[in-house]
Amino acid sequence: MKTKNNFNSLSDNIGKFHLRDKTVLIPEMNRIAAHLIAATFRSFDINARVLPTYNGLDLGIKYTSGKECFPCQVTLGDILLYLKNEQEKLGPAFDPESYFYFLPESDGPCRFGMYNKFQRMVLDSFPGLDKVKIVSITTTDGYSLEGVIEQNRLLDFRKASFIAVVVADIMERLQWRIRPYEKQKGTTDDFLERSREEMQAIFEIHAGKGEFNTILDKLEKISQHAKALIDPSIPAKPLIGIVGEIFLRMHVQSNQDLIRVLEKHGAEVVNSSLAEWVNYITYGQLRKNKTHLRLNLQRLNFAGLKNYFHKIISFGGDLFYQELRQKQFYKRINRSIDFEYDHKVSHLERRLKRANIFTFDVTTETCLSIAAILQFAEEGYNGVVNVYPFTCMPGMTTSAIVKPEMNRMRIPYLDTPYDGSLQPGRETAIRTFMHQANQHFHRCGRKGTIQQRAA
Ligand code: SF4
Repeated sequence: MKTKNNFNSLSDNIGKFHLRDKTVLIPEMNRIAAHLIAATFRSFDINARVLPTYNGLDLGIKYTSGKECFPCQVTLGDILLYLKNEQEKLGPAFDPESYFYFLPESDGPCRFGMYNKFQRMVLDSFPGLDKVKIVSITTTDGYSLEGVIEQNRLLDFRKASFIAVVVADIMERLQWRIRPYEKQKGTTDDFLERSREEMQAIFEIHAGKGEFNTILDKLEKISQHAKALIDPSIPAKPLIGIVGEIFLRMHVQSNQDLIRVLEKHGAEVVNSSLAEWVNYITYGQLRKNKTHLRLNLQRLNFAGLKNYFHKIISFGGDLFYQELRQKQFYKRINRSIDFEYDHKVSHLERRLKRANIFTFDVTTETCLSIAAILQFAEEGYNGVVNVYPFTCMPGMTTSAIVKPEMNRMRIPYLDTPYDGSLQPGRETAIRTFMHQANQHFHRCGRKGTIQQRAA
């Protein structure tokens, strides 16, 4: 690998580029969400493909030093392998300029903001791949899509991609709700995979036209069919909540299929959702601009006031829309099958304030994870698992702060850091945790609505 000393590439080849007439490559963090988002792109006439994942891990490891976060290695491996395969398949017809690699970033005190810079440097070191631009939307402006799509389609696209996230969350919740109770082993996974493909087709036709009720109707049909897979004679199982770093939580290969392992040892699981993260980003922007507004008011800086007021209206409107849509979808599907609602970010902040052990002022996932753990505990979950990449700063901070609280509340808690290697004691730790969760379940029962369901 030969590294080019051209740092202009960090500004020229990373950013918001117009996606029209390019092939957008989307990393598969979450299988259903990635495919529905790609279908949403296509419904806006943008060619988008989901990158096959985890087969390129050797390449990811080869071109990193070992100090990078694990998700950075995984995503780097995915893009390198995909482009290598394309080069081999297309030969001289391979045109690197026709691809855009979609890699969002975040601000705050962790390394996610550096993935795109680092991966840029690696891509630049391969002949031709310096021409593959990295499209990066950022938490700094609440994942604004300005500049990547035509201005008059911006709002429609934002709405449609949020719906894709909500639908993916609900489909996953259906999977976790049904799989531990399925009549016939394997039917849930097969059904959900088929349903994902059908839903993709629906998104391609309807998302771009804003026909969300058609999407909701389809989702309702899926949930009705899914319910029929449940064996009602199987008694309720201990309910486990998952929090943690978003990539590891969502990426089944990286977390070594943690949910399935927990289910194997007798759990029903609810993973924190993707929409929770999207809402958190919007909520964070709203919160930040409210703080700026207060400070400008104190300083009587009237020029700044107008700007922050405008931003508050804008982010407040986004959050209102997102939560409204999310509630509408969850409520409708809950008519067919009872499954867990999502946490509301403002509730989580209030819960954290009440506990007074951390603050939303420190950004990243730590505040969200700690608050969600407390919320799970309060709601009557029988245990909580915190999943994160090995050495992940927010993951370790969460663990350090929340462990004593969980001990005090006598609720089982487990840390599961991953780095791609197989830890021999992992399954023993999960079995021990599930034994404790079972004891909690027999001692305290479980979340009210589900107890009624089991009765
Ligand atoms: S959240 Fe953790 S794994 Fe993700 S970039 Fe930050 S430190 Fe790395």
